[in-house]
Amino acid sequence: MTDWTRATAAQMVAALKAGDVTSVELTQAHLDRIAAVDTDVHAFLHIDAEGALATARAVDAARAAGEELPELAGVPIAVKDILVTEGMPTTAGSTILEGWVPQYDATVTRKLREARMPILGKTNMDEFAMGSSTEHSGFGATHNPWDLDRIPGGSGGGSAASLAAFEAPLAIGSDTGGSIRQPASVTATVGVKPTYGGVSRYGAIALASSLDQLGPCARTVEDAALLHEVMGGHDPMDATSLNEPVPSCVAAAREGREADLTGVRIGVIKELSGDGYQPGVEQRFEESLDKLKALGAEIVEVSCPSFEYALAAYYLILPSEASSNLAKFDSVRFGKRVEKGNVERTMSATRAEGFGDEVKRRIILGTYALSAGYYDAYYGSAQKVRTLIQRDFAAAFEQADVLVSPTTPTTPFKLGERIDDPLAMYLNDVATIPANLAGIPGMSLPSGLAPEDGLPTGFQILAPAHEDARMYRIGAALEKALADEWGGPLAAQAPELEVAK
Ligand code: GLN
Repeated sequence: MTDWTRATAAQMVAALKAGDVTSVELTQAHLDRIAAVDTDVHAFLHIDAEGALATARAVDAARAAGEELPELAGVPIAVKDILVTEGMPTTAGSTILEGWVPQYDATVTRKLREARMPILGKTNMDEFAMGSSTEHSGFGATHNPWDLDRIPGGSGGGSAASLAAFEAPLAIGSDTGGSIRQPASVTATVGVKPTYGGVSRYGAIALASSLDQLGPCARTVEDAALLHEVMGGHDPMDATSLNEPVPSCVAAAREGREADLTGVRIGVIKELSGDGYQPGVEQRFEESLDKLKALGAEIVEVSCPSFEYALAAYYLILPSEASSNLAKFDSVRFGKRVEKGNVERTMSATRAEGFGDEVKRRIILGTYALSAGYYDAYYGSAQKVRTLIQRDFAAAFEQADVLVSPTTPTTPFKLGERIDDPLAMYLNDVATIPANLAGIPGMSLPSGLAPEDGLPTGFQILAPAHEDARMYRIGAALEKALADEWGGPLAAQAPELEVAK
């Protein structure tokens, strides 16, 4: 019998249409896999077997009745716990929200339901999406399926690990500074941050509203494209939602596999290499560039001098916005309450107990950066840097159609290794953060395994705003060239996990 957990979403779609499998069979196969491996991986915070199977049964019945169904109908999905889900617990990885069951759906949740995709459950994440390892989750870390002693990236480590462990074929992520792309990089999966405003943020628990963007996580570029088109589109409930058609990601991904890249200019960002980048990561990056060159692309070097300050600017803008967004967790409206007699003391005790160290650190940083005497020196300067970064991108995109770099400077590190060193943790996102500051789309896809440790390395493609389809085309071309060498997509070759006892 076919092991459906190894199939791509596109293969599942074809098999469902051909009647070779039912949605109930697909959903049950993934629930069984979750039961077998998630004790070790801990990708999920909540599993909704009953709800997923109910959706699957309804899809199968509709298909049997000859009803016209959406493309991904019946294909199961895992959802990052940052997305509000009606009737299903939502914590954003924080104990302050433990026990909260939302009364409404995020727009993206609603779209998944309309697409009739069985929702397997909610995936683990760093608390309020602050982190690069999921170790800041209030509910324990997730483990990387490539090596259970290593981090699966963050904040969306749960979503990425669920894909690499074959617990789900598709997952939702959110990317404020890299939380889709960095986990994709360290688990050899594919993750896409769409153009800012391309996917509605309504009902996604906010970290930093000017940077946050939801996006697709998958094991192949085509699968990410299929999910991107389900998630995207204008939403009147989100004031920053773009009022324009969803980019043609699927067509671009399919075309990319056959693509001749003659005439395509690929810009290598000079500043995102060298010091701090692991040799094996750079080696795999160079080899991917050679593949693109062999397909006809022209490789040019571009310089983005202001990127040097991107991390510093991000760690002023993000905490500033986060400190304001997190003010709503006041013990009155949602989740936890530590009763202390009066409102002020109750609020303070609840926040003291409910928030973890990293969240507190960023609230303090943000309130400080926004305080009257320091506003111009910190927040104001950071916003100026943001403008300079946008100008660097604009100039670079004059010289190249897409920009590329390694997604992360290193392969996944050991759990526990950087947890007490916030700066070392922050450095993971040095290559992903600029895209968020500029609002442009970015993709990470596997570039191989580093020769020195055998662990995944990622290749990042950035495109100008609104040109999401362009990176799907080039991503698919590279993926195909690499898969020809590896005998299939790298994510499909993740190690077989020992079945939990
Ligand atoms: N690791 C980054 C941070 O901690 C990115 C977070 C994110 O994209 N949500 O802020």
